[in-house]
Amino acid sequence: MLKKRNIYIAIFFVSLIGLAVIQYQYLRIGLNLAKLQFNTKLGNVSSDIAKGLETENQLTFLIGNALKEDTSYFTNRIDSVQEASRYFLNDYITEKLVTNGIDTDFTYTLHSKDSSFYLQSPKRFEINDNVESYPIELIGYLPREFEKKVVLELQFKNLNSFFLSKLNGLTLPSILFILGICIAVIWVLRTYYWQRNVITTTNEFINNLTHELKTPVFSIGLATKILEESALNEQKPILGMIRQQVKRLTVHIDKVLELGNLESSNNVLKLEIIDFRPYLFKLCEEFATLVAIEEVQFIYDLQQENFRIKAEVFHLENTINNILDNAKKYSARPIIKLKAYSLNNQFIIEIIDNGKGISEEEKKKIFLKYYRVTDTEVQSVKGYGLGLSYVKKVIEKHKGKVLIESEKGKGSKVSLKIPLYNE
Ligand code: ADP
Repeated sequence: MLKKRNIYIAIFFVSLIGLAVIQYQYLRIGLNLAKLQFNTKLGNVSSDIAKGLETENQLTFLIGNALKEDTSYFTNRIDSVQEASRYFLNDYITEKLVTNGIDTDFTYTLHSKDSSFYLQSPKRFEINDNVESYPIELIGYLPREFEKKVVLELQFKNLNSFFLSKLNGLTLPSILFILGICIAVIWVLRTYYWQRNVITTTNEFINNLTHELKTPVFSIGLATKILEESALNEQKPILGMIRQQVKRLTVHIDKVLELGNLESSNNVLKLEIIDFRPYLFKLCEEFATLVAIEEVQFIYDLQQENFRIKAEVFHLENTINNILDNAKKYSARPIIKLKAYSLNNQFIIEIIDNGKGISEEEKKKIFLKYYRVTDTEVQSVKGYGLGLSYVKKVIEKHKGKVLIESEKGKGSKVSLKIPLYNE
């Protein structure tokens, strides 16, 4: 059980790490794709700008004069002309970038190859900013005017964070969903541990209480016996009733304690290699005698061969008795059949009754400790819901299986399968 849980927890963590790695890889692919898309868009921007600045127009003429520091055409001072061309070029580039779907901050420098003149954008990045440059070589009017190569260099800052901001629609939900899974699993684990704690404490309490009940019950039994010796004849039936009830109480107490014992983690069954046939035969004979006085038909059929298994007789006998008891308890006019045989290396015991049957839904729950079917008819039958839980625990410790086939109103068949022992 503990091992299984650790395996599931390990699977969860491995899956979580795997999911995070895959998300990271997707993010990297997304970033590369965004970069590629950006470069394509920038290619379009470059050719748009180069084309726009190729011919002589108001903008190129203004830039040309500003660079040449020629104010013959304008009435303003040269720095006003330069300032104006700086802003106009900035607006022109912004417009080209935006129409191509790029809306990030940029700066530019317009300069000749030998840097003998240049024009800079009004805005500048800090020196330690992570900047990427994209040069556009201009053709036509401006290089012709200066008889030099003229380059317009566009600079973009922190492109990776820009791309990430574009991918935020994917990264943020992924991180949130992974976080959601973690929170849900932690909550489930916490609830699980809390419930396990409650179950353990409750079981311990019940076991302690039952154990404490043993002494007074024993004392009442002893006192009744002593009283019976000197009791008057009319008192004897009452004392007999007390003794009978004390006996019933003792059986119940023993049942609870046996199951508690079986559940404690340090309890290992003392399995021995035995032929179970004689024990089973004796058990059937005893049950047949016991029920002969009641209105119960009991038929048993044991295959004529050894049933060599590794078992602890005491618990296995209790198990079969519990199932036979149920078959009797939950049938109005019980006809009970017990069959034992070996098949495919398995020792199989089938106990069939003609009782009330169990619905499909209840079948899943009846092996739970303290669970009883909540129909009024069954409620009138005494029990604590411990029998089948005990049966399951014992059979599991014998490496076997318990199967129930049943139809409501028609009867049930409980099969126990235990592996046969082979040398
Ligand atoms: P108990 O008999 O003390 O209630 P069990 O663990 O033996 O506890 O059984 C659990 C429930 O399963 C019972 O309350 C009963 O409703 C149902 N059950 C068990 N065996 C049979 C059967 N042979 N036929 C019908 N119902 C059964």
